[in-house]
Amino acid sequence: MTLRERQSLFVRLVADLIRYGSERGYEFTWGRAYDSPEECERLAEAGKGIRNSLHGDRLAVDLNLFRGGDFLTDSAAYEPLGKYWKSLHPDCRWGGDFIKRKDGNHFSLSCGDGRA
Ligand SMILES: [Zn+2]
Repeated sequence: MTLRERQSLFVRLVADLIRYGSERGYEFTWGRAYDSPEECERLAEAGKGIRNSLHGDRLAVDLNLFRGGDFLTDSAAYEPLGKYWKSLHPDCRWGGDFIKRKDGNHFSLSCGDGRA
């Protein structure tokens, strides 16, 4: 699978995730999606990201989550969506599983190179 094909698979999987959440009473707004190399570098310098982020490969998205009008910011609130996300494809990774800093609103499609 080429990178371009993987990028399109990722978009289709995110559509499935949004549909799944929407049917269960969640609402979404976009957070970060694609980050340029310069933005990845800036975020890494600020301690808010990593240099080789999958956001730079168009293989990660941060979704803002709402329920009943409330903005859900706790990673644990994303867990049902994280579980569903990981069921969609063996390469789906959820930021709520990160060890160093949980990032529940981060959903990505790994390239099999260890990045998430
Ligand atoms: Zn992210």
